[in-house]
Amino acid sequence: MSRKSFGQVNFQEAGDYNTPDGEYADWDMVPLSVKRIFQRPTLVVSRCIEFDHVRYNGDMITSDIVASLKPFVTFIPVCPEVEIGLGIPRDTIRIVLKGEEERLIQPSSGRDLTDLMNEFSRSFLDQLPPVDGFIMKNRSPTSGIAGVNRYPSQEKSAPLGKGPGFFGGMILNRFAGYPIEDEGRLRNRRIREHFLTRIFLLADLGHAEAASSMEAAIRFHTQNKLLYLSYSQMMAKRLGQIIANREGLPLPELFGAYRQTLLDGMGRGPRYTAEINVLLHAFGHLKDTLSRDEKVFFLEELDLYREGRIPIAVPKTLLRGWILRSATQALAEQTWFAPWPDRLMLLDPDDIERGRGMWGEEIS
Ligand code: SF4
Repeated sequence: MSRKSFGQVNFQEAGDYNTPDGEYADWDMVPLSVKRIFQRPTLVVSRCIEFDHVRYNGDMITSDIVASLKPFVTFIPVCPEVEIGLGIPRDTIRIVLKGEEERLIQPSSGRDLTDLMNEFSRSFLDQLPPVDGFIMKNRSPTSGIAGVNRYPSQEKSAPLGKGPGFFGGMILNRFAGYPIEDEGRLRNRRIREHFLTRIFLLADLGHAEAASSMEAAIRFHTQNKLLYLSYSQMMAKRLGQIIANREGLPLPELFGAYRQTLLDGMGRGPRYTAEINVLLHAFGHLKDTLSRDEKVFFLEELDLYREGRIPIAVPKTLLRGWILRSATQALAEQTWFAPWPDRLMLLDPDDIERGRGMWGEEIS
């Protein structure tokens, strides 16, 4: 099978789906004529989400996003409560305020698990290989990253405040700026897509860092220019300055500054006004290849996106089709058009035209 390559991002013809990290099980089903190849992100995940029945009551949590990520991601599942020797099932634990201090207590036994949990968390995080993000169980006194209750005593009492769990809090401290979410927040489409964008971007960056060449750094930067503009012009400018390397930094320092600027600048998702600017920028590149009717159609769709009536996927997909038709290389290599695998798109059941029983017994 032949293969077209635009810079580092490879586009393959249908049926040719070998990837650098093995084959995705479902790639031979992909109906499009070309696809971007993604590096495989590494994520730490709470083991009770889609991996094992390790919750205090022996349950496992289901999560559509974690399940759908399995073919695309290397997961490192961990259950700190099991790791420190609490069994399954086990009595619950809670965070109790003792003066200024927060302690992790098991009310039924009166055990104070604070030191044990801190020790495990430190040693686990010390030994982690490079990771691109975290998906944690929400509201857990151990794994939660926000919204975990603090109690005034280990007896029955109303909570006094909220914050992260013990393990989740240490992750937030050590990995500031990294994609760290809980499975509850990932049910929100915008949060999910922002998370996916960053984990696949960081996996690509790790790949460029491993190549350890100025050429790889420039290629990575060039392919992500539109993506950066959709997040922040200021960040895009700063990243451009780092790549220009007027100070003559050695490569490891250059990559270090680049990664840090990226982590600092992509904490929040892109604003729709910036997305519109990027759509118009790409449209400007393609204008000469489009008919008058195509241009009018695109601008109408853009208005619908601006008014919040359609998702960005609609105008973006129009552009993707025209890029393929016109083989406009400057755009074909831009990751913004496919920041994560299309197969990770999750729609609300009501938005999918495959609902069961909506019209009596009719099943589509
Ligand atoms: S929330 Fe964390 S500690 Fe609790 S069961 Fe899940 S993985 Fe284990």
